[in-house]
Amino acid sequence: MPINKDFFHRIKSELENYNADLLAVSKTKSSEDIYELFILGQRDFGENKVQELTAKQKILPGDIRWHFIGHLQTNKVKYILPFIYMIHSVDSIKLVKEIQKKAAEQNRKIKVLFQIHIAEEESKFGIPLSKVDEFIGTFEILKPLNIEVCGLMGMATFTDDHLQISKEFQAIAKVFSTLKSNNVFGPSFNYLSIGMSDDYFIALEAGGNMVRIGSSLFGAR
Ligand SMILES: *Cc1c(COP(=O)(O)O)cnc(C)c1O
Repeated sequence: MPINKDFFHRIKSELENYNADLLAVSKTKSSEDIYELFILGQRDFGENKVQELTAKQKILPGDIRWHFIGHLQTNKVKYILPFIYMIHSVDSIKLVKEIQKKAAEQNRKIKVLFQIHIAEEESKFGIPLSKVDEFIGTFEILKPLNIEVCGLMGMATFTDDHLQISKEFQAIAKVFSTLKSNNVFGPSFNYLSIGMSDDYFIALEAGGNMVRIGSSLFGAR
């Protein structure tokens, strides 16, 4: 399926007004499609399956910045650690420990976002809002020197109710700005990764500065 070049150019200029970055979510899409977007200048791509990501990384240009946006099992960290640019889905101390261990072995510093659970739907993934302080307290005791905390990631409830989505994005934006103004993680703490194809405009209004767009760019999955 051809990529939507019109949408790409439109969202790029829209994001400029918000000083926000585009993460192109290429999961299930072919390397040819990714390359087509790469040619237009896109460098940040997001994948949610380890095997699919490593296969694509092997054959696509080395200057692509790969972001991992799906649930990451600790036993698979080692496959992406050599090349991953940013992991958006860090939501457990067990995962923190494994990333730290593998990153130290390879002498890399890995950029991560903490995934916060803001949606109404039950989910095993993401740190509940009520547990964020506790999680950060534990993280700080560990002092994982090979992990650079760059911000937060969240997904809103799958609904047409824009008000609800907006409230959820505002909830994570509040946590983000508190952590940022308290300088908990230093100057690299800059990214609020919220918003997908159907709700990115709500995310931008709420203060998101990295949107993760798949289907609007690459077509339906
Ligand atoms: C698939 C996915 C997206 C992109 O969703 P679209 O609706 O296709 O834009 C964004 N974030 C995460 C975590 C995803 O899994």
